[in-house]
Amino acid sequence: MHMSAASKEVQRVMTFCNACRYCEGYCAVFPAMELRRTFSSQDLSYLANLCHNCRDCYYACQYTPPHEFELNIPKTMAELRLETYREFCWPKGFRGLFKRNVLTLVLAILVCFAVIFGTMLMFQGKEVVFSNHTGSAAFYKIIPYQVLVTVPVTIALLVLLVVAKEFATFWRRTGGSLPSFLNLRAHGIAVTDVLFLKYLEGGGQGCTYPDGQFSMVRRWLHHLVFYGFALCFGATVLAAFYEHFLHLTSPFPVFSLPVILGTIGGIAILPGTTGLLYLKTKLDRAPATGKSTAMDIGFLILLFMVSLTGLLLLIFRETPAMGTLLAVHLGFVAVFFLTAPYGKFVHAIFRYAALVKNADEQILSKL
Ligand code: SF4
Ligand code: SF4
Repeated sequence: MHMSAASKEVQRVMTFCNACRYCEGYCAVFPAMELRRTFSSQDLSYLANLCHNCRDCYYACQYTPPHEFELNIPKTMAELRLETYREFCWPKGFRGLFKRNVLTLVLAILVCFAVIFGTMLMFQGKEVVFSNHTGSAAFYKIIPYQVLVTVPVTIALLVLLVVAKEFATFWRRTGGSLPSFLNLRAHGIAVTDVLFLKYLEGGGQGCTYPDGQFSMVRRWLHHLVFYGFALCFGATVLAAFYEHFLHLTSPFPVFSLPVILGTIGGIAILPGTTGLLYLKTKLDRAPATGKSTAMDIGFLILLFMVSLTGLLLLIFRETPAMGTLLAVHLGFVAVFFLTAPYGKFVHAIFRYAALVKNADEQILSKL
């Protein structure tokens, strides 16, 4: 079976590690590796997505360059991980978006802004778009209710379909079975790992990221981004519930639950994404692959802009700037979701699948 250069390198590295096993307490990769004697391409794709790039093994290993064995696990795993993002992407014709991720983001932003703004001006006229609208249903005076519901729901269903298909491809192509997928205990363990970011804790001192010093900063910043995003998502779902079941019309008061959750979430995302971007500027490049840097940075900036424009819309929603800010915010939100299956967001999908598979394997190995 054909193996890419990145797969062969991970295979070489894992064969060394399986004999050495010095790093077995660092993360889930090593216990998973120890369940195998040989490594198929399926195993390697799975292990690459189980690695969360903490770099502990790089700084601990006596065989990293300049040693002649030249083991560099974080870099090798990251390169294979990127390959899996492209390979398991759906539809296949969109693979190239991973390589031109930043260009894709910029074009998507321009197109979304042009479409939203153009449609608003064409159908509502600039007097309406640039006027002051207050009180109940103010947003719907700029963008009609039917449009504001139909378009996001269509995008959400489309993204959900693509993400489900990518998850299923990852599962199948890494050797996952239906019984493993249906193992609820494994899902429970994986969800707990995600909620507590267990592996970013390392051995209690955090990861050796961005350099050789142990630090919990990356973990806390990830928590801010993760829970910030979850709160914003929850706020949107709650707002839809208020509208459709309680018949309350947005914009909601500042002290209503959707606004409070969205505000806390948005505020959490700002330092979370800024901090992660700052850590990237301090990164020790030796254990990194330069191939994903642009994609990582593009994703963080996009998330930052979604959050910032959402907060600005909240602050200025009773001014004539509301129409413009609504268009800009919705533009960033649309780009975020439309590009999610073809960028850094895929990490969340494949990482979760890898954690479930790992939990299932560990449960079975103890029977
Ligand atoms: S990374 Fe190096 S020290 Fe760690 S298990 Fe592999 S070979 Fe051993
Ligand atoms: S970089 Fe971290 S997560 Fe990846 S294999 Fe090494 S110790 Fe494990």
